[in-house]
Amino acid sequence: MTEAVQIVLAKRPTGDVTPDCFRQESVALPALTEGQILIRSLYLSLDPYMRPRMTELRSYTPPFEIDQPLTGGSIGEVVESRNPKFAKGDIVLGMMNWATFCVHDGKGLRKIDPNAAPLSANLGVLGMPGFTAWYGMTQICKPKEGETVFVSAATGAVGQVAGQLAKIAGAHVVGCAGEQSKCDWAMKELGYDSCFNHRLEADYGAVLDQLCPNGIDADFENVGGKIFHAVFERLKNFGRVAFCGAIAEYQDKTPIAGPPKIFTIVQRRLTIQGFIVSDHAAHMPTFVTEVGGYLKSGQLKARETIVGGLDKAGEAFIGLLKGENFGKLVVKVS
Ligand code: NDP
Repeated sequence: MTEAVQIVLAKRPTGDVTPDCFRQESVALPALTEGQILIRSLYLSLDPYMRPRMTELRSYTPPFEIDQPLTGGSIGEVVESRNPKFAKGDIVLGMMNWATFCVHDGKGLRKIDPNAAPLSANLGVLGMPGFTAWYGMTQICKPKEGETVFVSAATGAVGQVAGQLAKIAGAHVVGCAGEQSKCDWAMKELGYDSCFNHRLEADYGAVLDQLCPNGIDADFENVGGKIFHAVFERLKNFGRVAFCGAIAEYQDKTPIAGPPKIFTIVQRRLTIQGFIVSDHAAHMPTFVTEVGGYLKSGQLKARETIVGGLDKAGEAFIGLLKGENFGKLVVKVS
C-alpha cells in the first residue's frame, strides 16, 4: 500500500486566497485495478487559471471540490502499471493531483522524453504556457515588422514567450511587469524595447503615450483591469487583442466594468479574441517545432521559479497571484 501526501481545497476563497484554503493530508492509496497506473509526482505546475477554479462559478474548467485534492498539469514517473500503454519508469505529463503519489487511469497522459529538455520546461516554455503564448501571438496578434505590440505580465510564463515571439517577428515590443528587476530582465535579456513597472506607475495612459507614441497595433492581454483599459484606448485602426487572461480580476469580489466607449471596437475595426489554448491542440506540432527551434538556436530564453516541496504549493500559489514568481512557477515535488 502506498501512502501519499496530498493538498485538498479546505475552503473557497472570498477575495484573496489565504493559507487556510489549503489543507495537507496523508492518505493510503488503493491497490491498482486494471487500466490504472501509480505515479510518483516530480513537478507540479501552478497556473493562474486555478484561482477561478477555487470558486463555485462554472467556467471553461469545472470548479475544484471542497475536501478533494486540487489538480494541475504535472510531470511524474510511473512506479507501477496495470495499463498496457504505460510501463514502470515512464515519465508522463498530464493532469494529476497536488500529491506525492496518485492513482491515474492514464487518460490524457502523454509520455515525454526526459533527455529532450529539462523536465520542468515541459510545463513552461515547451508546455501549456509556451503554447498559449505562441497561439495568441502568431494566430491572433499576428505582428508585422515595425508594428507596436504590448504584452502585460511581460515576464511571466506566458508573457516572456509572447514578447520574444513578437520581437522575432520584428515588432516594437512594450510590456509591463510588477518589479523593476523583472522590467530590467525583459529589456536586457528578452529584447523588449521598453517595460514599465505597473506597481510604480499611477497613470498607465500617460506611460503608454510615452512608450507607444503612435498607438498599439496588437495587445497580448494577460492582466485585464485598468492596464487593459489604458491599452484599449490606444489601439490603432485594425488593432488586434489576443485576450489570454485577466489575472488582475481573478480575486475581485465584484467584477470590474469593461472599458468605456465600447463603440471604439467598431470605429477602429478592432479584433478582440478570447481563446483557450486547449481548443487548439492541432497546432501543437508547429508550436513545438518553432519554439523548440528558437530555444535551441538561443533566439528565445525562458526563466522559471522552482519551489521545493509539495508543502510549499499553497504558499507559492498565493505568491503567484501577488506577482512573487519570476517566470514560470513550478513546484518540485520530489
Ligand atoms: P504568470 O507566470 O505571468 O504569473 C502571473 C503574473 O501575473 C504574476 O507574476 C504577476 O506578475 C502578474 N499579476 C498578478 N496579479 C496582477 C495584477 N493585479 N495586476 C497586474 N499583474 C498581475 O502567469 P501565466 O503566464 O501562467 O499566465 C498569464 C495569464 O495568462 C493569466 O491571466 C492566465 O490566466 C492566462 N492564461 C490563459 C490561458 C488560455 O488558454 N487562455 C492559458 C495559460 C494562461 P507581475 O509581477 O509582472 O505583476
